[in-house]
Amino acid sequence: MSSVMVNGTRVETVRGDISCEQVDAVVNAANRALLGGGGVDGAIHRGAGPELLAECKALNGCDTGDAKMTRGYGLPAKHIIHTVGPVYSESGPNAARRLASCHRRSMEIAIEHGLKSVAFPAISCGVYGYPVDEAAHVAANTVVEFVTEHPGLELVRFVLFNDEALRAFSAQIERAAGAGGHTP
Ligand code: ADP
Repeated sequence: MSSVMVNGTRVETVRGDISCEQVDAVVNAANRALLGGGGVDGAIHRGAGPELLAECKALNGCDTGDAKMTRGYGLPAKHIIHTVGPVYSESGPNAARRLASCHRRSMEIAIEHGLKSVAFPAISCGVYGYPVDEAAHVAANTVVEFVTEHPGLELVRFVLFNDEALRAFSAQIERAAGAGGHTP
């Protein structure tokens, strides 16, 4: 677990289930169809209920690296920002750029809607096969850089499902914030 302040935004890591997070928006590690799946996507659709699928059907899918928002329905979170991470083995040198774009687009959408708190899972680190240390490096750099340039978010929280991911994301957040942030 770690927590740093960067330009007025708290950036932190916790261990947990993202579908239980009480924040303005949880980010879903979705696929391009936006019609549900396993892992994070499954937990979010189960928690939100069938109305979520109905709203998702009207969105006509989502490109890799982009994001689209829906209501949170039965989740404690008010909104869900669905983003599509890269499949590591298919992305070659574009993997990091696409993963960074997922984080950036999700935070842009949150700010556009006046949201203050956002929770991310370890996007692409499950069935999409992104090595956790590499993904944590990209996610941490992208979030710290974004909040340094864009005030408005009060909280960006990474919700990790296991100790390996928690350790990796905590270490990378502290490293990335080292330049611009400070531990309270
Ligand atoms: P992707 O398809 O983008 O790889 P997954 O949902 O398969 O997404 O997994 C992404 C990461 O989220 C993995 O590290 C996985 O262990 C973790 N994870 C799975 N379920 C949950 C959950 N309910 N809350 C938070 N993290 C989860």
